[in-house]
Formats: sequence, C-alpha cells, structure tokens
Amino acid sequence: MAHPSASASALLHHVRTGRARSRAELIALTGASRNTVSARVDQLIAANLLEEGGRGWSTGGRPPTLLRFNSRAGCVLAVDLGVTSVDVAVTDLSAEILATVGHPIDIAEGPGPVLAEVDRLAGLVLAEAGLTPADVCAVGVGVPGPVEFSTGRPVHPPIMPGWHDHPIPAAFARYDCPVYADNDVNVMALGEMGIAGSVEDVLVIKVGTGIGCGIIVDGQVYRGAQGSAGDIGHISVTPPDGRTVVCRCGNENCLEAIAGGGALLRDAIAAGLPVTTTRELVQLAAHGDGRALELVRDAGRTIGTVLASLVNFFNPHRIVMTGGVAQAGNPLLAGIREAVYGRSLPLAARALDITVSDAPDLSGRLGAALMAIEGYLDEDSVHRAAAGSSDASTR
Ligand SMILES: [Zn+2]
Repeated sequence: MAHPSASASALLHHVRTGRARSRAELIALTGASRNTVSARVDQLIAANLLEEGGRGWSTGGRPPTLLRFNSRAGCVLAVDLGVTSVDVAVTDLSAEILATVGHPIDIAEGPGPVLAEVDRLAGLVLAEAGLTPADVCAVGVGVPGPVEFSTGRPVHPPIMPGWHDHPIPAAFARYDCPVYADNDVNVMALGEMGIAGSVEDVLVIKVGTGIGCGIIVDGQVYRGAQGSAGDIGHISVTPPDGRTVVCRCGNENCLEAIAGGGALLRDAIAAGLPVTTTRELVQLAAHGDGRALELVRDAGRTIGTVLASLVNFFNPHRIVMTGGVAQAGNPLLAGIREAVYGRSLPLAARALDITVSDAPDLSGRLGAALMAIEGYLDEDSVHRAAAGSSDASTR
C-alpha cells in the first residue's frame, strides 16, 4: 500500500492500526510538522473518519486529546461466493459483521441468476442492519476461480461455466461505489490476517476440490503480474505409489490431481471406503478410520513436499491451512509437517508455524470486507473525502 509518509490516508492508517493515538504520536511517527498533522487530522475529523475521545496521559502540560478511527462512518458489503452456496454480510469499516445471511446457489447457473440472488441477499442484510444502499462505501467479492483483479472479471474459471469475462462489479452498480473482486483464496488469506496492520509474511493454503495458495507479503496480498500468483495446484509432484494421474488441466501428476479433495475422494472410493463426498471422507478420518487416515496423511505429505519448496523460496512466518480437506486437522498437518520440516532449510523452518484456520467459514466474508475497506480507505479516496469535507467546512 502506498501511503506517502504523512498523507491523510497514512495518518488514518496509523490510527486504525493502533500505532498512534494522538496528534503528538502522529508527529513523532511520521516526522511531519505539527501544522501539517493538525490540518490533516482536522480534515479527517470533518470527513467523519476520525473522532476525538477522552484524554491520554500527560507527559507534562495539557494531556493530549485521543484520536479514534470512526469505524461506523460507513459500511461495506462482503460477498463470499462458493460453488454451492453464497454468504453475504454487511460490516462496519473495522470489518465487524453487522448482519449476515447465507443461501444455497449453483455457481454453474451463471452470473445472471447467481448475482441476482446476491443482490437480493445484500438488500436483506442492509435492511436487517438498518442501513440503506447509500450507506455502502465499497463492495468486496470472493470468487471460486481466477479473476483479473483490475477489472473484476473471471478468466476461464474451470468450475464456473458462463462466467468468463463477466464484469462482476456491474452487478453492484446501484451502490455507486468501488467494487473489488478477487479469487477466494486471496480473499480468505486477507481474512486470515484479520484487521489491517500486520506486517507478517504468510502463505494461506486452501485444500478443497482444488489446491490454491494466497500469498501475504508484509500483511498485503501479493497477486503477481497478471493476478495468478499462488496457483500451486498444478505444480508437478511425485505420487506416493509411483502411478501416473492425468489432471483436468491435461498435464500429468499435478499437485491437485494427487492430493486435492477430488483426488482423495477418487482414491477413497477405489479403496472401497463407504463415502460419496470429500466431506464424508474427512469425517471418517476424524473418527479414526485407519484407511481414511492413511489417505489424508499421504495427501499431507504430498502437499508438504510442495510447501517445503515454497518455504525455502519465500521464508514465511506462518502457513495457515484452510478449505474442506483442511478440516481433517491433525492427520493432514502431521503429513505436511513431516515433509516441510524434513525438507526445508533449517533457517527457514526454525520458527515456522503451520496451523489450521480457526474460522474457515468466516475468513471468506471477513477477507471480502477487508478487501473492500482497504480499497475504500486507499490514498485517493481518503484524500478526496478529506479535501471534500474541508472545502465544505470553509465555505
Ligand atoms: Zn493440472
């Protein structure tokens, strides 16, 4: 995120993330002059984004007036589009959920019917929270397929027929605000980071039907040149039993063709286990079924060999596992840890933390909200809001 050192949005960012709580702390943190900081803080207060509240500790003289981010200055819509269901939430500007609703959908029905349903649900949550479309500052949408982030258009999404090149932001035109759409793994990765301000480097690995990776650098999503960074599902791996499996992409022995949810289900059925869905297999493993445990642990080892390379290359603070297969928990983690700690360089692996998401069902909505909030509070829009309100107040 580009925040020139003492711009209005940089000052707002410091208060939002708790780095500064007063004008004096903003001056100390940014090195800007008292006049500059005071003028911009006044603009942010006039724009309703900052508010004054209470007094801090005095270090001699008058105690400083404390500054607070006004997270109720507006709201955002957060949309977590899945293959079989959608969750829509309205949150305040600190990503606190004010109302949320979920509904079954079939993503393969195409953008028309699915986005009409999203629009209906958005109306419901706004009404429940006592808000109107005019209160919505931004919309964030997580999509189960690749998206060109700059335009919000899916690009040949394999499990979303009819969605290629469809402008998702157009469905939210009546809110007259910025709309951000990204693939669900990047959005979940943002959700795992929680509220802005983290400077950690994190890999968020979603193991569902496919396998994807959200890359967080210094607390921000890294998307790469075309937005496809982290598409690790088609990295070539060696299957544990030496066979050859053709992936849906046409190549042989891709990671997701060996260790994704679909692959696990295929192998479970071939092994005679009484399951019809990946979820049932994961539940069987959770209940201690020996063959199911073995399949999940093998998948963990295969995923772990790829993660070991990523750890050597990227040296993250943390890896967070999410998605349906990650719900298997310990047997999957055991396989992953065995491969990662066995193959990663000691310096990269020494302090590395590998965990399963605490709130996998929430991270999609939370991430979509955070994506919208970060977009809304970026350099240009904060500058516009601050400048607009100071014009009004000097008129
Ligand atoms: Zn493939």
